[in-house]
This record gives sequence, C-alpha cells and structure tokens, in this order.
Amino acid sequence: MISRIIIKRSYPINYLTTFRNTGIYLFQSKNHFVRNFTRITAMSSSSSSSNNHWNSNLTSEQLHVLRDKGTERPHTGKYLHNKDSGVYTCANCSNPLYTSNTKFDSGCGWPSFYKPYGNKSLNYHVDNSMGVERIEITCKKCGGHLGHVFKGEGWTKLLNLPVDERHCVNSASLNFSKID
Ligand SMILES: [Zn+2]
Repeated sequence: MISRIIIKRSYPINYLTTFRNTGIYLFQSKNHFVRNFTRITAMSSSSSSSNNHWNSNLTSEQLHVLRDKGTERPHTGKYLHNKDSGVYTCANCSNPLYTSNTKFDSGCGWPSFYKPYGNKSLNYHVDNSMGVERIEITCKKCGGHLGHVFKGEGWTKLLNLPVDERHCVNSASLNFSKID
C-alpha cells in the first residue's frame, strides 16, 4: 500500500515501475514513453522488511518466532501447562487468538487449541518448508507467525473434542489475559 506520494512532475500516469528494495516508484506518461519518466517518491506502509510493524516490547525470541517464523524449543514455552481461564492474544498486536476453554494437552510440547477465538483471529497458509505440506497459522491482524494447524489426527475420539484440529502454537507468539 502506498501511503504517501510526492509527484515531482505531472504527467498523465499510465505506467508504474517499482524498483525493488529502493522505495522509488517511477510513473511513466503515455506520451513520453521511455524518455520522460516522472519520478515519484513513495513510502510503502506494507514493507515486510520494516521493523516498525513489530512491537518494541517483544523479546528477541518472540521476534524470531513472530517475524522470522521460528519455532521455540518443545516443552519450554511459558503457556504450555497454563490451565488458568482467560484469553490468549497475539504478543505483537493483542488480537484475540484463542480462549482457554479450547486449550488441550496434546503432549506435543507446545500449547494446543482445537479452534480459534473467532473469524478475525487467524490466516492460514500452505507451508512446504519442511518437505511436507503443513498449514501455517498467522495472526490475521498483524501477520505474525503463530505455529501450524494439523487436522484429522483423531482428537475427537481420543479426547472427545468437538473439532478434530490441533493448533500447535508457540508460547512466544502469545500473551495471556486471565479471567477470574
Ligand atoms: Zn498480531
């Protein structure tokens, strides 16, 4: 998304060329092909390389997980054994992601949930990075990496869960708001 544009010369704008990683956009007028580029300086607000997107309170491990799609070591996360009632939110943007009543003990070493907080919580992406197809889950509001979701593992029979999904989420991606 272009948030601000400064047009230094005015021509009818028909073409846009983006020079990657320069932040400089060139608009080309219809009647001055090639010779008369109109140079425009633009600021992009959606650049993935920008660090402005990330909360300055995040630890280096949280940044590694949320921004760089890292994975915390199993059985180490601070919410793995949390049994308090409350809401799990995105550690970066506070978007509600899960409620405690959908959390279950899968034994996998990471907090596990069978469904998200709501339809504004998650985005789903096919992830082939490990040589097998997995479904990555990210925060729908800020895009921070959360973990992966696995379907059809048999949790409805094993634990009588209403949905046969295991949302395997890094504690580092989460904050928790306790409800008494
Ligand atoms: Zn978020």
